[in-house]
Amino acid sequence: MCCDVDFDKESISPSGLFLVFTAKHQDFMNYHLLAGMAIAPTRDGNIDFEVIDNVNADKVTDKKEQLAIVDKLNEKGANPVSFTMLQDFADFLYFEFAELLKQGLQIRKCRLCEKYFALQNKHKTLFCDRIYSGKRTCKQVGNKQEYDRWIAADPALQEYERIYKARHAQMERDEQKESPADSGRAKQAFGEWSKNVRKLRKQYFAEEISGKYLMEKIYV
Ligand SMILES: [Zn+2]
Repeated sequence: MCCDVDFDKESISPSGLFLVFTAKHQDFMNYHLLAGMAIAPTRDGNIDFEVIDNVNADKVTDKKEQLAIVDKLNEKGANPVSFTMLQDFADFLYFEFAELLKQGLQIRKCRLCEKYFALQNKHKTLFCDRIYSGKRTCKQVGNKQEYDRWIAADPALQEYERIYKARHAQMERDEQKESPADSGRAKQAFGEWSKNVRKLRKQYFAEEISGKYLMEKIYV
């Protein structure tokens, strides 16, 4: 089937991505968002809500009187403003997705915190700029050189790396021995263990637990 083909999302043009998306999610093939036009005061390209609040506070309902108040409060007065109506979650997601495509932004999952982020430029970064622990961002922690330098001075992290690699290698060996009946069992067990220890490592980075505690727990 067309849609089951695995593809490299980052090598496809925005139009290509849109086609793949609509082929996979046919509800969005002819999706429409409601658009409208209103008269509103604007400032720096955005709706001036401060002025609108003032008009509302005066409880004036006559349109002409409202415009007169707006003219007094905002030097440019009111302008025609077009807007898009997002009425439910699907509308919101569709709008957001369309904007990303229009702006040619790429989304990637951060290798460390596993949250999504928009690539700011063509750099092939694997990590986002969110704070991961203390004052360090995922990008800083994830930077290999920096991380290596950091663990070189930390016995708990060295032990973490050693155990993590050993458990991963063991999982790969166990996978080879699996019969079809228990296929995937080793990977699942490793997945559960690693999810837990990655959480502990994060707590250690944030200085919520001690290195001793981290070392004790990774053997479990
Ligand atoms: Zn991150």
